[in-house]
Amino acid sequence: MNQVWVGTVLAVQANFYQVQLDEQEGTPLLCTRRSRLKKIGQRVMVGDRVRVEDPDWSGLRGAIAQVYPRTTELSRPPVANADQLLLVFSVDQPSLDPYQLSRFLVKGESTSLSLCLCLNKSDLVSTEWKEEWCHRLGQWGYVPLFISVVSGQGLAELEQQLAQRVTIVAGPSGVGKSSLINTLIPNAHLRVGKVSGKLQKGRHTTRHVELFKLPSGGLLADTPGFNQPDVDYPPEALGDYFPEVRALMKVDHCQFSDCLHREEPDCAIRGDWERYEHYLMFLQEAIARQEQRDRQADPESTLKRKGHNTYEPKLNTKKYRRPSRRTQQQQLEEWYKDAEI
Ligand code: GDP
Ligand code: ZN
Repeated sequence: MNQVWVGTVLAVQANFYQVQLDEQEGTPLLCTRRSRLKKIGQRVMVGDRVRVEDPDWSGLRGAIAQVYPRTTELSRPPVANADQLLLVFSVDQPSLDPYQLSRFLVKGESTSLSLCLCLNKSDLVSTEWKEEWCHRLGQWGYVPLFISVVSGQGLAELEQQLAQRVTIVAGPSGVGKSSLINTLIPNAHLRVGKVSGKLQKGRHTTRHVELFKLPSGGLLADTPGFNQPDVDYPPEALGDYFPEVRALMKVDHCQFSDCLHREEPDCAIRGDWERYEHYLMFLQEAIARQEQRDRQADPESTLKRKGHNTYEPKLNTKKYRRPSRRTQQQQLEEWYKDAEI
C-alpha cells in the first residue's frame, strides 16, 4: 500500500518549495512541483497543504503532486490557509499613533481573518497608561493584549492564542515584531534592527514570506514591514470594517441601504464616536480610488449612476457616484483578489 504524505509549504524559493510533512520532525523537504500541476496552472503558495510523492529521505527531496483546497488566501503577503492576523504595535518608541493603528485595524478587518491586537514594549509605560488605552480601544471594539518582549509580560497568553493556528504578523516597523518572533521561535533568527532615524523605515525590503513553526504547534508568518497599508476598499464596504459601525447597525438602520454615513438624512451611524473622523478620512480615500478606477475602466461614458437612482454628468468629480451593480461586483472581485494586510 502506498503511503500518502501530506505537509505544509513553509517557504517558496524560485521553483522550489520547502515542505514540512505532518509526520516529520526536523528539516523540511525541498520539493519541486509536478509538471501536471504546472500544466493546469496550479500555483503553490506558502501555507498550502500539499500531497508529496516520492520523498527522498537521504537527500530531503520530494515532489508536490497535489494542492488541497484553501480555506483562506491572501495576495499580499501571499499566504494560504491563514487563520488569524496578529497586529503588533508598540506603546512607545515608536509611540502609539491612533490613526495609523486604525488604518491597520481596518485593513485587518478587510481580510477574512480574525484579529489579535498586541501592544508591545509595555515595559515602557505605566499601569495607568495601559488602563486608559485599554478603555479607549474597548470603545473601538478591541481588547488589546499588552506584551513586552523585554519583561516577558503577556507572552504566555499570546502563545496560547497562537497555538495550533496559522498566524500572520503585521505592524509598522520598529515595534518589535522581529524581536517577538525570535523570542517565540528561538531558531527563527530574524534580524532585530534599531529604530532608525527620521524615517523609521522597514529593514525588510523583499516580498519574501516564510512560515515559522511554533514550539506549541501552529505557524507564524513574518511579513515585510510597511507603515501605511492602502485604503483600497469599495467605499460602501468601509463601515463593515469598524466594530463601532457594526454595533450601531445592530440597534438602528440608516434610511438608505447604500448610505455612506456622511450627510445622508436619517443616518444611524454619523455622529459621536471617536473614530468617526477616521472613518470619514478613509472613506474619502476609498472614494478617490474608486473614482480613479471608474475613470480607467470606463473613460468613454458620459453619464454615471449616482446614489438613490439619480444621474449626473460625468464631469462633476466632486461627489462620489455610485457605480452600477455590475461594476461593483467586478470591483469587489478585483478587490478581494487584492486583499492584503
Ligand atoms: P520590528 O521592526 O517590528 O521587527 O522591530 P525589532 O524587533 O527590530 O525591534 C525594534 C527595537 O525595539 C529594537 O531595538 C528592540 O530591541 C526593541 N524592542 C523590542 N521589543 C521590546 C520591548 O518589549 N521593550 C522595549 N523596551 N524594547 C523592545
Ligand atoms: Zn448612514
